[in-house]
Parts: sequence; structure tokens; C-alpha cells
Amino acid sequence: MPLSLNESVAAINSKKSDSINALPPLEAITHAEASLPVSLPDKGMGLEDMKRHLLDDLLPAFNGPNQSPNFYGFVTGGSTEASLFADYIVSGFDQNAQVFAPKEAIGGNVEDAALRLLQQLLCIDEAVFPGRIFTTGATSSNILGLALGREFSVAAAGRRKLPPSSPSVAQIGIVSACMRAGVRKIQVLTTVPHSSLTKAASVIGLGTNTVISLPLSAEQPWRFDLNELERKLSDSDGAANIIAISAGEVNTGRFATSREEMFKIRALADKHGAWIHVDGAFGLQARVLLPNESYNPIIDGIDSITLADSITGDAHKLLNVPYDCGFFFTRHLELQQAVFQNGAVPIPDLGEIPSAHNLGIENSRRLRALPVYASLLAYGRIWHRDLLERQIELSRTIAAYIQQSEHYDLLPKATVLTDIYMIVLFRAYSPTLNSELVTKLNASRAIYVSGTRWEDAPATRIAVSTWRVDVERDSARVIAELENAVMGSK
Ligand SMILES: *Cc1c(COP(=O)(O)O)cnc(C)c1O
Repeated sequence: MPLSLNESVAAINSKKSDSINALPPLEAITHAEASLPVSLPDKGMGLEDMKRHLLDDLLPAFNGPNQSPNFYGFVTGGSTEASLFADYIVSGFDQNAQVFAPKEAIGGNVEDAALRLLQQLLCIDEAVFPGRIFTTGATSSNILGLALGREFSVAAAGRRKLPPSSPSVAQIGIVSACMRAGVRKIQVLTTVPHSSLTKAASVIGLGTNTVISLPLSAEQPWRFDLNELERKLSDSDGAANIIAISAGEVNTGRFATSREEMFKIRALADKHGAWIHVDGAFGLQARVLLPNESYNPIIDGIDSITLADSITGDAHKLLNVPYDCGFFFTRHLELQQAVFQNGAVPIPDLGEIPSAHNLGIENSRRLRALPVYASLLAYGRIWHRDLLERQIELSRTIAAYIQQSEHYDLLPKATVLTDIYMIVLFRAYSPTLNSELVTKLNASRAIYVSGTRWEDAPATRIAVSTWRVDVERDSARVIAELENAVMGSK
């Protein structure tokens, strides 16, 4: 008897608790740990016992980014009801999104439609960014971006050399291409990049040391120093350059560039044959906002990022679809198809739609487009704007409390509320409390926050990224926990 989808979903739902705590009870984790088998059984326990084990032993020990509105660690999102419904279908029908041809199955068209709807939500022109694909997350999107940047910038260096050539890293490899182009180093010029950017640099053979931060100042390390950028680009005889823009930065939620600066960076990139990649994993969400005084600092940081050559986004963060789902857009479809061509002979396109075989890293792929498609259709543009507005409001409410508190310090220094997007960075004035603040807050199990370092000392961040946000309820809960932490340390 095949397992019915209905039955699975009903069983899972029957186990969802009413608790909105961010972490499960410690006993549930201890119990789950003890239940993990140490050896593979020769004879399986059977479907029924396995289900009981998953539902009764493991599931109660899962944490709550989806169930709880108070999971503020990392930037995790949640999963909307529409996307979850679609995700059950994705698993139930196990579609391989790599192999759809028109007239064989609808998946390829669904993926294309979802990507275009997403571009419309984010006001990213479909015609200007014809290279589009869903990825496993922002890390893989950053690999795509740097790989295209490497291809582009090395070829550009070759064209400036005499006699000009246009060597392809994808074809002849990085060593031969750089030799032919006279490239002695490749630089990824950025500001406080997400850790995945250095990983991407390692994976594609540039090396983590090629990622160079050009901060405006120690106080504003997330912002690009344009003079320094220009110096690095013009100095760089024999260098191929990729400019990587953090929009936004993961500790502060702040944006590396302004509208005016993006135009200058574009001109510099064109002059020096550099590629511009934007990591907008969660920052891209800000493109749904409408101009208004309280959002203008955010909009100024995000509205011209479409001057870039490639853009990373995370749907599991900004759209609240289930893991794993990122996306990647580029202006340079042909270059993308050259770098990610699958096999010596390219796999043909699906009619009008470029085959996903030649656009990204994976071959066989889950139809992760469907939850995006479902959420966008179910909720539409206005819901997504309203969601972000509530996330910003909760962040600013918490930040306002911190600002007036005698125990906590809002970071970075000189932050005003309208700078705050959906991440709040802060620390306790008391060094003792500060050193244990994250542990203390998370020990409540009611809320969950991440620790980081800021200006050489521990700091705490609260990232508001779930659709379950309720400003009044959640700000009260967070403020209560912040006050408890102070009481507990006296
Ligand atoms: C989360 C994040 C990433 C990594 O994304 P994954 O989906 O976890 O791979 C990259 N860049 C930024 C700015 C992020 O916030």
C-alpha cells in the first residue's frame, strides 16, 4: 500500500504543538538523542514503527523557525501555509525539475513562471535579467555569481592586452586563461562579506584570500569606500576584478552602497572590465517597499542594485518558503550558459525557456519553484509588502527599547531607527552580562537569538524574518526576555 500524502500530512499536523517557543524542551532533545540508532538494522523496523519513531521521538526535538514567531537566529524565514502546501506536493509527486520538456510535463514552465513572478515582485526587469534560476540557497547563488565574474573579468583583461584575446576560464581553465590574458591576480572587492562569499571564492579556485574588504571606516565597515575601490581598480595592472556588494550585511542589515554610489561603481566597473555581483540574500526583500520617509534610507541602499551584472537572493528567507530555495539572476544569459554548460554538447532549451541544465550547478533538481509560485499567487504583492513592513516595525520597536535602556547599547554606533531594516544588533553595557547574553536569552527557550562579534566584542543580533510576526505580541516577549536577562545577572 503506498503511503498516502493525506495520511502523512495529517500525522505531521497532529504533532504540531501549540507552543510558540523558539526551542524545544531540553528533555525532548535528550530523549531524541537517546533514541538514535547506532547501527543499521538488518531487518528494518517497518513503516509503522519508523513513523512512530519520527513523530514521537524526533519531531518533538525540532526547533521552531517555522512554528515560532520568536526564532530570531541567523535569518531563517519560516514557511507560509501556501508554500508548505506546495512543498508537500513537490515531495509527493517527486518531479525532477531538470528534465521537463514542453508537452512532456508542466514543471519547466512553472519554474519559468515562478522566476518571472519573483522578478516582478522585486521590480527586477525580466528583459534586462534573462538569466534566472532557482538554486539551493544564497551560497550556491554566490558561487554562480563569482564563477560568472571570473569568466567575464579574465576575458575582459585579455581584451585589454596586446594582442587582444578573450580567453574562457570555462573552456581552458583558470591557469591557462589567466596566462593568456596576462592576469596575475583576481580580486573580489567587497565589504564585510557573508561567510559564503569566501567559500564561493575557494570553491571556484580563486582562493579565500582574494576576497578583500574595502570598508569606509572602522565605524561603518559595511559601507564601500569608493576612493579605495577606484584605487584598487586602477592600480590593478594585471588584475581581474569582481566587485561584490553586500545588500544587506548580515550583522547589521545595512547596505553597502547608496543609489548614487551604485551609479559610480557601475561606471568604474565598465571602465576597468570588472563584474558586479550583489549578495541580496535577504536585502532584496526591501525592493517591495514604497518610498516614504521612514523607509528611504533602506530604499536608497537597494533600489539601484539592478545596475549589477548578477544578483543573489534567498527565497527561504525573504519569501518564507521551505528550505532549500535560493535564486540567481544575471544580465548575461549567454555567459551563464557557457560557464554552466552541461556536457560537451549543450542540452537543448525547452522551447523558449533556457534549459536549467546549463544555468546552474545541479542536474537533477527538486521542483523548488512550486512553493514560490504558490506563495506569490496566494498572497500577492501587497501581502509581501505588508509582511516586510511588520518585520521592520518589530525590529524598530525592539531597537527603540534598546536605545532608551540603561542596560543595552544599540549597534552600530549612531544608528537611528530609520536605518534599521530587519536586523537589530546590540550588546549589554555590562561586560559580564554581555559575555553570557546570547546563552542567557536562548536558555529561556522562548526566544532564540544569534551571537556575533562587533568591534572586537561579543554582540547579539535579532533577525526578524518570519511571516508569523505580530509586532505587539512579539516585542513584548522579546523585551520581557531582555529584562529577565538583566534581572538574572544581578
Ligand atoms: C543567508 C545568507 C547567505 C547564505 O545563504 P544560504 O541560503 O544559507 O546558503 C549568503 N549571503 C547572505 C547575505 C545571507 O544572509
